Amino acid sequence: MAKKPGRSTGKHAGKSAGKAAGKNGGKAAVKNDGKTAVNSARKSAPPPGPADRWETPAADVLRWVRGTDLSALDQAGTPGWAGDRADGEKLMAARGEELADLQERLFAHGRTGGDRSVLLVLQGLDTSGKGGIVRHVVGMVDPQGVMHRGFGVPTPEEQQHDYLWRIRNALPRPGYLGVFDRSHHEQVLVVRVDRLEPVRVWRKHFAELNAFEAEVAASGTVIVKVTLVVSPDEQKKRLAKRLERPDKHWKYNPSDIDVRLKLPEYLAAYQEMLDRTSTKEAPWYVVPADRKWYARLAVTELLTDALRSLDLGWPPADFDVAAEKARLAAT
Ligand code: AMP
Ligand code: MG
Repeated sequence: MAKKPGRSTGKHAGKSAGKAAGKNGGKAAVKNDGKTAVNSARKSAPPPGPADRWETPAADVLRWVRGTDLSALDQAGTPGWAGDRADGEKLMAARGEELADLQERLFAHGRTGGDRSVLLVLQGLDTSGKGGIVRHVVGMVDPQGVMHRGFGVPTPEEQQHDYLWRIRNALPRPGYLGVFDRSHHEQVLVVRVDRLEPVRVWRKHFAELNAFEAEVAASGTVIVKVTLVVSPDEQKKRLAKRLERPDKHWKYNPSDIDVRLKLPEYLAAYQEMLDRTSTKEAPWYVVPADRKWYARLAVTELLTDALRSLDLGWPPADFDVAAEKARLAAT
């Protein structure tokens, strides 16, 4: 897809203009748009963006290959990324501008009758950073175009229905970026590990999940599924922090320790979920999550790719632009 046209009003662009103004003596360069040397220089020759240090595209290096041994994953690794943390944070900020632009196109597309949408599914154990992805990655786009939903223990109302009922109700409408913090896949994770259903029942869910996602994809939704993988040691540190800090107590749940005691069972459940529910329509990407900056950069990249794949332009005006300009001028 063609590079976005200058979105010079974006917050990052604003920041860099601010910095340039600092170097060039005062705020005039920001306020006096287009009239100063700084701004005209930016317009004629935009500064080169931060280096893209992906030596293998995130989507290629992170896409789950059936049969890979999940227990052998280096949770502190940064697969595909040849730069350091500072390089990663710079690229993420730049990608954020592109992501925001692409998401706005998607939203405009939905407002003008389009049927496309994107669904980001986040799975991972407690402390793996799902909430951080929502804040730092999804937080870079316009919230009015986001449909976010977290899935916990089913409520009494939800229990009255099939397990996909609450999922279907939360699917992104056309034009929206849907974000699931946990998902229908819990039906082969916690449900399996805690024996909430008999084996013969939860085993059927693999095929059901695949059929459901194929249907969602066929309706125009690009599905990006991400499993964040945190190491047991890092998880322990993060839980300890939640216990240390009163501002983090709300995130802690005593049951988090019970989950830790069942890590081998969860590992087996995740392994099989990945092997059985990574499909062409809804592939899994497995992201090492001990380094938060890497996980956020990687998900930013995957999401940007998904939105780029839609290849959406701006919808044409459904009114006579010239006539409207003339009308406005006459007011
Ligand atoms: P949190 O993500 O920290 O808010 O925790 C949500 C909790 O809900 C986790 O312990 C999940 O295992 C649990 N949960 C999510 N989906 C289901 C489900 N379908 N059945 C039972 N528990 C679930
Ligand atoms: Mg939790």
